[in-house]
Amino acid sequence: MSDLRPKFWEKVPLKEMTTPEWEALCDGCGKCCLNKLEDEDSGEVALTRVACRLLDDATCRCVHYENRHQFVPDCIVLRPDNLDTHAYWMPQTCAYRLLWQGKPLYDWHPLISGTQQSVHDANISVQFDTVSEFDTPFEEWEDHIIEEPT
Ligand code: SF4
Ligand code: SF4
Repeated sequence: MSDLRPKFWEKVPLKEMTTPEWEALCDGCGKCCLNKLEDEDSGEVALTRVACRLLDDATCRCVHYENRHQFVPDCIVLRPDNLDTHAYWMPQTCAYRLLWQGKPLYDWHPLISGTQQSVHDANISVQFDTVSEFDTPFEEWEDHIIEEPT
């Protein structure tokens, strides 16, 4: 992490972060890789435990992150200039959303704790708690709606 400025998340505006700093904000919770159901009328977003086909729920990471668009063309590339559009559906504990809201990161964030394991220990991640979208027909997604682990 030597190319990250000390405590950059407390001082550097999102739009002025370097690419490594921006990437380091992701805590690896995996929650944004769960499918959501959005009510067309109310705009309400419900989270399900039905995971994207590329999510490894042991590591909570995308198994083909660099070339994921070959498999999942609509996977969103989050950037400082599109955060305004996406923040509403992002997990409440997501570092991008927290900073966008002007809030601090939690102590379990790997940038603060120094270890990825703290995200799992705090029960924030989706580790071992998903079902695959391959095995779960869309009609059944409603049966898998969950509260976001926070
Ligand atoms: S919800 Fe945010 S912090 Fe968690 S994996 Fe997704 S982008 Fe990273
Ligand atoms: S393609 Fe990868 S990064 Fe995108 S939602 Fe699926 S698992 Fe997550």
